[in-house]
Amino acid sequence: MRKGITQAKRIVVKVGTSTLTYANGQLNLQRIERLVREISDLHNRELEVILVTSGAIRVGANRMGMKKVPNTLPEKQALAAIGQGALMQLYEKLFSEYSKTVAQVLLSRGDMDERIRYLNATNALLAMLRMNVIPVINENDTVGVEEIRFGDNDTLSAMVAGLVDADLLIILSDVDGLYSSDPREDEQASLISQVEEITCEMEANSTNRGSSFASGGMFTKLKAARMCMASGTAMVIANSQELNVIRRVVAGEEIGSYFAPREKKMHARDRWIAFGRLLQGKLFIDAGASNALLKKGKSLLPSGVTRLEGEFERGAVVAVIDNDNQEIARGISNYNSSEILKIRGMRSSQIKEILGEKDYDEIIHRNNLWVEY
Ligand code: GLU
Repeated sequence: MRKGITQAKRIVVKVGTSTLTYANGQLNLQRIERLVREISDLHNRELEVILVTSGAIRVGANRMGMKKVPNTLPEKQALAAIGQGALMQLYEKLFSEYSKTVAQVLLSRGDMDERIRYLNATNALLAMLRMNVIPVINENDTVGVEEIRFGDNDTLSAMVAGLVDADLLIILSDVDGLYSSDPREDEQASLISQVEEITCEMEANSTNRGSSFASGGMFTKLKAARMCMASGTAMVIANSQELNVIRRVVAGEEIGSYFAPREKKMHARDRWIAFGRLLQGKLFIDAGASNALLKKGKSLLPSGVTRLEGEFERGAVVAVIDNDNQEIARGISNYNSSEILKIRGMRSSQIKEILGEKDYDEIIHRNNLWVEY
C-alpha cells in the first residue's frame, strides 16, 4: 500500500499515443472510454484532475489516411492541427456523457521560460480547476520550433504537475512500469515497484525503449520522474491495459512503478527556475566539486569547474555535469560564459586579479542551486 498517494487531491493523468490508438493508428475507443469514465469518477469524488493527452499527430495522420507519421516537421505540425481538433471532439463527447466540462489547453516549452507567462499558465489552470472543469492539455505542436519544444508529453506532464503543484502524476503507458532491464529482451527482467532514486544505470538502460508511435519511451518517463521527485510530487507509471488502473493507483495499490517524492516540496519559484526556464549552458565539474555540492551542501566555486558549454549571460540557468557526464544540479550562474572560461579552475581569491573585479566568490551560490534534481 502506497500511503502517501491516498492523500492526493490534485492529480495529473498522462496518456500516450500507444494507449489511445491501435497499432494501425485507429482510435482505441474502448480504452479511451474507460479512461474518461475513470477520470470522471475521480472528479465525482471531488478530486481535481488534469488530463495530459498525446495522440494529436497520430490521429491527424489517421484522418489523412496515412499509415505512418511522416518525418518532416511541417507535415507533423499540420497533422497535429488536424488531429488535435478530432481528439478534443472525442473527449468533449465522452466527458459530456458524464456531465463533465473539459477545457483545451495547448502549451509550448517557450511559455514556461518567462516568469510572467509561467504564472499566467498556472493561474489559468487553477481557475479552470476552481470552475470544476477538467483541463485537457497537449503540446502546441503546430507552432513549436525544435529548440523550444517539450518534444514529448512525459516531460510536458511533469511540467504541468509542477505548474499546479499536483500531488500525483500518473503516466499511463503500454508498459507495466520500470523494469530492471528490457523485458522484451531479458526474461529475468523484473518490475521495480518503488524507486527512491534514479540512477545513471536506469537512465542508460532506458534510452531505446518505447513503441513506434510514442515520442517518449522510458527515457523521457525517467526525466519526468526526476522533475517530480525533486519537486515533491509522487509519480506512478502504470499499464493502461490494467482494469480500473487509475482508481487502483489512486487507492495506493502497488501496481506499476512508484517514484517516491522528496519529503519537502520545492518552492514554486524554485520549480520555475529549475524546470521552467530554458537551460542556457552546461558547467562540467570535477569530483571534488561534486562531493562538495552533493554531500556538503556547498556552493559551486570556480576551482571545481573544468569546462563549459554554451554562451550565456550572468543570471542564466545552467546544468551542472559531473565526471560521469550526469547532470547532478541546476542553478543560476553569477558569471557569464566568457568570465567562467577565464576563472574556471582558479581560486576565488584570484577572480579580482583575472577579471579586474569580483562581485561573487562562487559561480553558483548555494541558494540558487538545486542538487540531485
Ligand atoms: N504532442 C504529441 C501529439 O499529441 C505527442 C507527444 C508524445 O507522444 O509524447 O501527438
